[in-house]
Amino acid sequence: MNNKHKVITKIFAVVLTAVCILSCSANANADTTVATPSTPEPAEIQLGDVNHDGRVDSYDALLTLRQSVGFNEIEKDYLNYADFDGDNRITSSDALLILRKSVGLDGSFIKCTEILNVSCGDRLNVLNFHAQIVPEEKNTGVTFTYTPGDSISTDGSGCKVLETTNTGKIKAFHPGKGTVYITSSNGLTASCKVNVSDDTTHQTVTVGNNTLSVTKHMMLNNEAYDETDDFTQLKGIVVHSTATPGAKADVWYRAWNKPGTDAAVHSFLDDEGVYQYLPLEQTAWHAGQPANKYYLDFEICEPSGFYYSGNQLMDYNVNDQQEYFNKIWKNATVYTAYLCKTYGLTESDVISHAEAAKLGIGTNHGDPDHWFILHNKTMDDFRKDVRELLKNNNISITEPRIIKSAPNASGSADFFAENPDVTPFDMFKVWGNESLRY
Ligand SMILES: [Zn+2]
Repeated sequence: MNNKHKVITKIFAVVLTAVCILSCSANANADTTVATPSTPEPAEIQLGDVNHDGRVDSYDALLTLRQSVGFNEIEKDYLNYADFDGDNRITSSDALLILRKSVGLDGSFIKCTEILNVSCGDRLNVLNFHAQIVPEEKNTGVTFTYTPGDSISTDGSGCKVLETTNTGKIKAFHPGKGTVYITSSNGLTASCKVNVSDDTTHQTVTVGNNTLSVTKHMMLNNEAYDETDDFTQLKGIVVHSTATPGAKADVWYRAWNKPGTDAAVHSFLDDEGVYQYLPLEQTAWHAGQPANKYYLDFEICEPSGFYYSGNQLMDYNVNDQQEYFNKIWKNATVYTAYLCKTYGLTESDVISHAEAAKLGIGTNHGDPDHWFILHNKTMDDFRKDVRELLKNNNISITEPRIIKSAPNASGSADFFAENPDVTPFDMFKVWGNESLRY
């Protein structure tokens, strides 16, 4: 036995004695062997009885503690009985739980995720999903409440790190570390540490035989990110195009991820995939009111090689642009089908910004119909293709994978400085009416 092990064993012996004294003095008549709701079958081995002598006692706790620091004294076949909290590891917390059980304390506890690593913008029901009482039979009728503890911003911004709803949902805002306290209606407590990171993540959407790349990185410095509320009701999707030749999806991250910018859309889409910059759960400023309040949106990036004079596309060569158009058409219909499936919408809930204007629910824009028509496509064609895609049984998305490159890291970061002739007019010129934003 080395010194470290000696010290741990000594400390444990002291704790054990203290718990025994406290327990015995608090309830002199307590059964200090095992509290069980009914008489067990003699042959039934209880969780915590790591030496299989028919009792859960302090010796089992000590064996478990020693196992956790490297002694292999528990027989291989009995190791499962030492993993009291069922996390597939034998640790000092298993030993403590076994000790509590040995002195007649209720052996039940809240099992939850100890450390959650999430990304800014995430909405997770994970606490609600994971918190449960062990053993399982003690769960009946138990409810949980969730209280956020102090959190520390780790990017120097001092911004809000996370919120927790009473149903156990986590809303992650800015990089930082926080704690969520969990209390069960039968008086047990636990805590969960939450790390929020400003990650760029990548996912792949599959719709039938089609795949689509989805890159996510929240625009933390855009004012809409902190100001808009989550949707109370989702009625559909508004499809836009940027009317900004050559500015692909990554360009907008740098252009809009800064204080003083409050125009914001959920996603930009180009020939390479989708770049999501706002949580899909919260409202954005893309089409005016009341559309902003009830509709998700994405902007399709228009290609380079032409320019605008007012609302007119000049020098636009349809043949040269057909290949790019085919790619964005595929990406946009696949993305729309995925969003419809995810949010319980159908193709008839999908409208263009121009249609939103005609319906009187959005600002007076003509996108993207004004561009689609040059390639002999209409929004009805778009909805028809989405309907076909929705017939696929396999519509799915992969788990997020953290990638290193931020969307603003590519070569076109300073696009508007390098292309002074290009004005992002669909975004800035007409979006000046503050009353229409959120
Ligand atoms: Zn628009």
